[in-house]
Amino acid sequence: MIIDGKALASQVEEESRKKIEELAKLGIVPGLATVLVGENPASQMYVRLKHSACGRVGIRSENVLLPEDATEEELLSKIEELNGRKDVHGILLQLPLPKGIDPRRAMMTIAPEKDVDGFHPQNMGALLLGAERMVPCTPKGIIYALEKLGKDLQGAEVVIVGHSNVVGKPLAAMMLNRNATVQVCHVFTKDLSKHTRDAEVLVVAAGVPALIKADMVRPGAYVFDVGINRVGDKTVGDVDFEAVKDIAAAITPVPGGVGPLTVAMVVSQTVQAAEEQSQEVGGNCRW
Ligand code: NAD
Repeated sequence: MIIDGKALASQVEEESRKKIEELAKLGIVPGLATVLVGENPASQMYVRLKHSACGRVGIRSENVLLPEDATEEELLSKIEELNGRKDVHGILLQLPLPKGIDPRRAMMTIAPEKDVDGFHPQNMGALLLGAERMVPCTPKGIIYALEKLGKDLQGAEVVIVGHSNVVGKPLAAMMLNRNATVQVCHVFTKDLSKHTRDAEVLVVAAGVPALIKADMVRPGAYVFDVGINRVGDKTVGDVDFEAVKDIAAAITPVPGGVGPLTVAMVVSQTVQAAEEQSQEVGGNCRW
């Protein structure tokens, strides 16, 4: 089975639309501000995708564009301004940032309740403590897909290839929160296939084309290919899709798999942020 990321993303958008209708009754229109520094074409494309998704569901979105040579102080003061605005419920800082700006400092400046990317240490800490609030969007999309596919994660053997702060680490925590048995592999893992062959659920986020071959996959596995790699004029993932699709129970294609789900989760978390802020006085964290 090929997992249709676009169809699942449409489902997320439909669920968000219903919540937005409820918020409208309270006079609230969820708002997302993306912040882009410089003119990285890939970043511009990701930001455009997020704004289109917002437009489809009825989230008010705006892009704050700072020049490539913006200083860290200018960026932080822009973020502070957005933190203070009542009509902005979610703030998304598009990475990477130009040299000279510390991404951690910038991330930590975003108010945790508006951090729809889930990168703020307060949100990451809560995730690790099992109190998920705003979580990174790619892992959230993968968990959503597994739930919709009816895959029970309790006790499931989950193997994650890649231990980045954006995908691997937060996904490992989310899997543990659901009582899966988790192995996390990375570039220094000695025998990758020894681990990947255990996986009932295999998630690959390495950024290496065709890293995962058919003989590295357990028959009947659920395979999520997060990788986005340009090879010639094609975009491919990290999994040898043609060979693995005949072994896996379900597999995400690239493009059209994890990517659309990630964008849908930005929408979902912006709505969640608007709902939570509508119930909070002062916008402080509640866990
Ligand atoms: P990263 O570069 O921060 O981390 C890469 C990870 O892969 C590291 O843990 C590294 O140790 C591991 N790795 C690298 N080579 C390896 C190898 N040969 N064997 C085993 N592990 C190896 O990457 P990231 O930001 O997590 O992104 C990973 C990939 O996923 C990239 O292609 C990126 O473009 C893509 N991505 C896609 C989405 C999406 O929405 N589809 C979201 C985020 C990232």
